[in-house]
Amino acid sequence: MSSIIQLLPDHVANQIAAGEVVQRPASVVKELLENAVDAKASDIKLIIKDAGKTLIQVVDNGVGMSVTDARLCFERHATSKIRNAEDLFSLHTKGFRGEALASIAAVAHVELKTKQEQDELGTHIIIEGSKVTTQDPAVLPKGTSFLVKNLFFNIPARRNFLKSETVELRHILDEFHRVVLAHPKINFSMYNNGNEIFNLPFGNYRQRIVNLFSFKTNEKLVPIEESTEIVKIHGFVGKPEFAKKTRGEQFFFVNDRFIKSGYLHHAVMSAYEGLLKEGAQPSYFIYLDVPSHTIDINIHPTKTEIKFDDEQALYAILRASVKHSLGQFNVAPVLDFDR
Ligand code: ADP
Ligand code: MG
Repeated sequence: MSSIIQLLPDHVANQIAAGEVVQRPASVVKELLENAVDAKASDIKLIIKDAGKTLIQVVDNGVGMSVTDARLCFERHATSKIRNAEDLFSLHTKGFRGEALASIAAVAHVELKTKQEQDELGTHIIIEGSKVTTQDPAVLPKGTSFLVKNLFFNIPARRNFLKSETVELRHILDEFHRVVLAHPKINFSMYNNGNEIFNLPFGNYRQRIVNLFSFKTNEKLVPIEESTEIVKIHGFVGKPEFAKKTRGEQFFFVNDRFIKSGYLHHAVMSAYEGLLKEGAQPSYFIYLDVPSHTIDINIHPTKTEIKFDDEQALYAILRASVKHSLGQFNVAPVLDFDR
């Protein structure tokens, strides 16, 4: 009897893995922006065409890559960010799986230009469907540019599944918001179809929020601040009178990473108890810093959910901190005469 089990060729394995990492243009935007942040860039540009369906480019002035690394970065599980399993518990970077670029290159046409400070020449690579077609030396500034074209060119079903440009742009903006709010010390700009839609100069957290969501936001923000051994908290919560019917700007960041947490959302909402009209949703921008060994980020490929060692303590501290700030700013309870 002959055996029938075979190892899949790399390009097939990559295409399967890509299904998890790359769901839509916004997933590419997220991965490329995070890589630029990890590369210690102080200036990052996001350029898209047709809501990312035809083109997504991220240009950074970070550390760049060597000629060899520029090829290696497209390999699966190729990463400069962790070396062993223990490193997973002391993460200081956005990435660590070494999967994003391999996945993107499996389902799109990618052009990479990169140069390290110390190198005289940079390198220019074109890769299509996981295959490097050319690699040439090039005169380049320090940093990296990834250009991603024709996403899902080889998976028509996925391509057809993409939503309207309005919807895809909305998803891209969500990812952009999450990264720029986490990193106010970095200049970010964004262009869609040749038009500048954001130009965010570096500044503090309040300035970043205000630049992103209009100047009217400023008067709505109440600062929060708390420091314990379990967690350090800073950021802003919206004054209750500005709460909206729809869930608007609600952001948690843990160690500079955007996360979703129904549990922590509940902590915040319970701090507003008695201050909001029924169904009203306050804005909040809450930054939590916790010792990296007390969280596990590795539970979901897109890393928006994480596990905390002591979730209950976090809940209590966060709730108290928000309550304290709302009280301090003399926010009177709303009397709901409508009922
Ligand atoms: P991960 O970010 O999980 O390491 P990626 O596939 O996103 O995996 O990237 C692989 C590697 O390529 C990174 O570990 C890094 O060394 C390198 N790299 C990716 N993007 C950049 C960039 N913008 N600047 C410098 N190096 C980069
Ligand atoms: Mg990455």
